[in-house]
Amino acid sequence: MSLLPIKLVGEEVLRSKARDVDVFDAALARLFDDMLDTMYAAPGIGLAGPQIGISKRVIVLDVGDGPIRMANPKIMEKDGEQLGLEGCLSIPGLYGDVLRHDKIVVKGQDVNGKTFRVSADGLLSRCFQHEIDHLDGKLFTDMAVNLHEQKPKDEDDEEDDDFDEDETDA
Ligand code: ZN
Repeated sequence: MSLLPIKLVGEEVLRSKARDVDVFDAALARLFDDMLDTMYAAPGIGLAGPQIGISKRVIVLDVGDGPIRMANPKIMEKDGEQLGLEGCLSIPGLYGDVLRHDKIVVKGQDVNGKTFRVSADGLLSRCFQHEIDHLDGKLFTDMAVNLHEQKPKDEDDEEDDDFDEDETDA
């Protein structure tokens, strides 16, 4: 297991368009595994290549239903809208509401280069869109409304029970 340093907002790689993956080898498999380890340790629910300084179209996600590793993700279908809270491991402590497609179908390639599709709604759909934006140099703060800083953990406030903002970082 290797944890990779997460790049923070201000680093150029986060604003660059990532390149397609065209080699599906052991190094790519290791990259996916390291990205998942890094994401879980953060903790977060999604991570994209540029966030660890790798300008390649690779993303990992896990919103509680198990890990997804996808190269060259592309949204093939989209339907409806949802507004919901997002955070980002590259922008610690900042949260905001982002309007996203509600349901999407994403096509990409697995660690062996085999094409697969995922139908996603709710949080998984939101997370895919957030990660794919990273591959195009976009950050959630470009689109977010109601941007706010997280309350300190030790601050006594009953509102903190409503949701756990740590679960939204991607
Ligand atoms: Zn992010």
